[in-house]
Amino acid sequence: MKQKLYFLPESEIPTQWYNIQADMKIKPQPMLDPVTRKPVTVEDLSRIFSVECSKQELNTTDAWIDIPEEVREYYAYYRPSPLVRAYGLEKALDTPARIYFKNESVSPIGSHKLNSALPQAYYCKQEGVTNVTTETGAGQWGAALSYASRLFGLECAVYQVKISYQQKPYRRNIMQVFGAQVTPSPSMSTRAGKDILTAFPNHQGSLGTAISEAVELARMTPGCKYTLGSTMSHVSLHQTIIGLEAEKQMALAEDYPDVVIACFGGGSNFSGIAFPFMRHTLLEGKKTRYIAAEPSACPKLTQGEFTYDFGDEAGYTPLIPMFSLGHNFKPANIHAGGLRYHGAGAIVSQLMKDGIMEAADVKQLETFDAGLLFAKAEGIIPAPESCHAIAVAIREANRCKENGQAETILFNLSGHGLVDMAAYDQYLSGNLVNCD
Ligand SMILES: *Cc1c(COP(=O)(O)O)cnc(C)c1O
Repeated sequence: MKQKLYFLPESEIPTQWYNIQADMKIKPQPMLDPVTRKPVTVEDLSRIFSVECSKQELNTTDAWIDIPEEVREYYAYYRPSPLVRAYGLEKALDTPARIYFKNESVSPIGSHKLNSALPQAYYCKQEGVTNVTTETGAGQWGAALSYASRLFGLECAVYQVKISYQQKPYRRNIMQVFGAQVTPSPSMSTRAGKDILTAFPNHQGSLGTAISEAVELARMTPGCKYTLGSTMSHVSLHQTIIGLEAEKQMALAEDYPDVVIACFGGGSNFSGIAFPFMRHTLLEGKKTRYIAAEPSACPKLTQGEFTYDFGDEAGYTPLIPMFSLGHNFKPANIHAGGLRYHGAGAIVSQLMKDGIMEAADVKQLETFDAGLLFAKAEGIIPAPESCHAIAVAIREANRCKENGQAETILFNLSGHGLVDMAAYDQYLSGNLVNCD
């Protein structure tokens, strides 16, 4: 029988994350304090983030960072995640390419987000914090943080983008099951929310707005820290567990990727699967392509500008050197809520600028065409975000077919779509549009 799944034992859960900043010849430019224009310090960042995450954020020298044992123990609830050879998809496409995917949908909350929620909650607990707060779009990050907060005994308050709060009640319910308090954003509970609602009474919310509200709550509340599900360098660091496992699993399959693909919101699952392989490109000149798949409706890497911009709508965050569509950008209401963010992380932005990675944009209908093809071939219904990675993997597999090349394609399945069936319902009834 042909081997379909590549498993690792629990003992092979990595003991360290990989910090690509240490190996980058051209480091990301520093984040700046918007008032003084000086690089932010650990002290600045730790006013809103845990001290340990603030240190990790600015660490450009240590390539390997220890994973706390308690975090590894919770990783073992769902990790190592399987690497899957997509024979079904290969057959459906009639391609000579070998396609593999890393299945992050097996986490208890259904996406990769828990990989960073666990350490972020753990460090807060260690540092005596009692409450955490955050923003969430489709609800994946909010769900992950709610569950991680439950495990480490923290109170959790989530600002959910209003349109998602209304359209995705089940993810809101998941957060509530784990005991989180969920508020639709913009709300009247913060200065930032009030200002936005006064200017735009029908504002449907965006990740940028919800971040402003959560940051404000963390600043105003003693014992409360802010956490972020993407974009920041420490989040990308935590997600490298994906690629570190995948590297070992590809070795079990006696294969190595020519192309690595992931969907792109702020860049955390992309960084997670790509950076451990990219290490060999940076250090040994290994020729691998890395492709970020973003929505045409929110095309920061393919259409945005490399600039210093805020991470949020109200301008509470430091200035971040990144590809951005502008912090007031209001993306169309595509179903891939996790990809509706105006900017990209500082590390990926630098790698993009230096030509070490590429980006491709995909329209909504193509993503769902890809998602359905994948579901029929492999039996897993992908999250609308993940459909972007699948669409680009299919483009690459079709290119291999045209050129008769048997390349190896690896993509990250960032999550399943079982809580996104309203989106599939729209697609199946012919009511889905491209939005751009
Ligand atoms: C949040 C999310 C994304 C996008 O975030 P990144 O930080 O870019 O990875 C992608 N897929 C799923 C399933 C998500 O929940």
